[in-house]
Amino acid sequence: MGLLSLGTPLPWEQAKSLAHEVRQHGIEQFLHIWRSTKDRQKDRLLWGDEIEYMLISLDHENRRARLSQRGHELLTALQIEENESQKLANQTGAKPNLEALWRPEFGRYMIEGTPGHPYNSTVSELASVEANMKRRREIVSSLMKENEIILSVGSYPQLGSGDFLEPPHKANGQFSQSLFLPDEVINPHPRFRTLAANIRQRRESKVRINMPVFHDLNTPQPFVDPTIPYDRNLFAGDKEAKEGAALPDHIYMDAMGFGMGCCCLQITLQAPNVDQARRLYDQLATVGAVMMSLSASSPIFRGYLADVDCRWNVIAAAVDDRTPEERGERPLTKDRFVINKSRYGTIDTFLGADDGLFKPEYNDLPLVYDHDIYKYLLDKDIDELLAKHIAHLFIRDPLVIFEELLDQDDSISADHFENIQSTNWQNVRFKLPPPNSPIGWRVEFRPLEVQLTDFENAAFSVFTVLLARALLAFPDINLYIPVTKMDINMERAHHRDAVLDERFFFHRSCPADNQNYLAELTANEIINGCADFVGLIPIVQMYLDSISVADTVRRQIDNYILFIRGRANGTLMTAAAWMRNFVRNHPAYKFDSVVSSEINYDLAVALDEIACGRLSAPELLGAGNAA
Ligand code: ADP
Ligand code: MG
Ligand code: MG
Repeated sequence: MGLLSLGTPLPWEQAKSLAHEVRQHGIEQFLHIWRSTKDRQKDRLLWGDEIEYMLISLDHENRRARLSQRGHELLTALQIEENESQKLANQTGAKPNLEALWRPEFGRYMIEGTPGHPYNSTVSELASVEANMKRRREIVSSLMKENEIILSVGSYPQLGSGDFLEPPHKANGQFSQSLFLPDEVINPHPRFRTLAANIRQRRESKVRINMPVFHDLNTPQPFVDPTIPYDRNLFAGDKEAKEGAALPDHIYMDAMGFGMGCCCLQITLQAPNVDQARRLYDQLATVGAVMMSLSASSPIFRGYLADVDCRWNVIAAAVDDRTPEERGERPLTKDRFVINKSRYGTIDTFLGADDGLFKPEYNDLPLVYDHDIYKYLLDKDIDELLAKHIAHLFIRDPLVIFEELLDQDDSISADHFENIQSTNWQNVRFKLPPPNSPIGWRVEFRPLEVQLTDFENAAFSVFTVLLARALLAFPDINLYIPVTKMDINMERAHHRDAVLDERFFFHRSCPADNQNYLAELTANEIINGCADFVGLIPIVQMYLDSISVADTVRRQIDNYILFIRGRANGTLMTAAAWMRNFVRNHPAYKFDSVVSSEINYDLAVALDEIACGRLSAPELLGAGNAA
């Protein structure tokens, strides 16, 4: 999450009436940026990662681990150095030189850390990534109390279950109206609670998240969650769970915080020019699902073991602001489109690039897009594929409008464009250069689950960067699959142990004939290679062999590659598998899918010990690798 605007967010009814205006200005802003930056060339291959952490308070006496509301307090302290050096920079022109930058996230217990400045394009810089991630952990840790820990895992096992928050608060606040999550878990910046409230109001009900429960030996069949107040009308007006929002055999969640309260690892990559950014966007989108399955770290939601290992669909449902008409449940009378997906999801359309590899049949989803915007963009000389992409993003309403920021000069601001862009949360994001800035065209790779340790986060980041560099260095590499297959892949990638058991649609390297370019491959086949596909690791190695890399750097990179290989071939466990195993082997576990407070405490302590390197976990990291 980037820097936040300050101001007064408009309530939904007012924001709604301004949606058209914001979109119009957003498009003008896009056109200004396009005209001034479309010819940028030779931008450096800068890149950076974002890691999200949750602050947890341990109560050793009562054996409880609770999410700590002090996350926000720590964040404020963490940002002091940046604010000071920014002030100094404004006065003297001296460039701030910081080890890390700290950003807010949806949860008040969350902290996001990025490197102090983007990494440069050299391969030797890749050797410094892990050390920077370690520094970030040290910097946060230096501000923590003795009983506090930070964890980087996808989903917090007990979020919304029992006594999970420090200090405790009651659920059913005015913004989320959740049966389980108090509004106090939301970051106090007004943007976040307004997002939660406006999504709920726009869709005319609370969000409905149902993740399949993991049926263990003693889990009732069907599983009907006893912690949902079905019969008692606890909260006036909340009949949704009882009336079918909560599905049997599922873990039901009813607030944005269940999704945006998850943590992830994201990587932003600058490309030399817009065309190369389009290539990265398309090609990286197709590997999102398989990479997510390798990184799975979310096996538990609201105190229950789930039958999934990943958080992605939880977030998709948690921010699904589509109205009943847009969801196709009522005929269109006041809304403009029936929309097939949440604004959080896989991309619906490729951008194409001048590598000549794109074919119209890859964009096989009947695309929902704003036809007026599309025609307007074509008139302004935007090519068809880019115009469709933008016209598709712009089917959405702006969710949070700050009153003070309504009036913008479209030739120097990107605020209205970014309002729509930044709430289209997709597996890859095509980032425009900010107006009047040295920053170029970038692509953000967004499907990865965050890893427990800095070693693993560095390995996933470095591997992704090298894959992107290889894609730019070898323009013949073609990973296109139809976008509808990407959706299927993403569904499959969620499944428990998908990394071992699932097959993913993938582009064959050597099709038997032109028609037959698709294969269904395991993660191992995609990553390590097989008869149908050369393999992502061999592609990365080919790239490394084509450039000169210092021996020490190459050894470190080879070790990351070995780790990725191990995840794909099943010799190393995902954090999700590790956590599930831990729960199922805990003496207090009753094989009923319930992750009790006591188990949650022991799990949090164990995860922290791994993350800090006090507990070696060769089954997760590989022999000889420390956190
Ligand atoms: P978001 O869009 O997720 O809010 P930001 O725009 O704040 O993210 O970007 C965050 C990431 O982008 C960080 O990892 C940062 O290091 C990286 N980054 C910053 N500048 C560049 C650049 N010019 N090229 C590539 N990555 C960059
Ligand atoms: Mg973030
Ligand atoms: Mg991001």
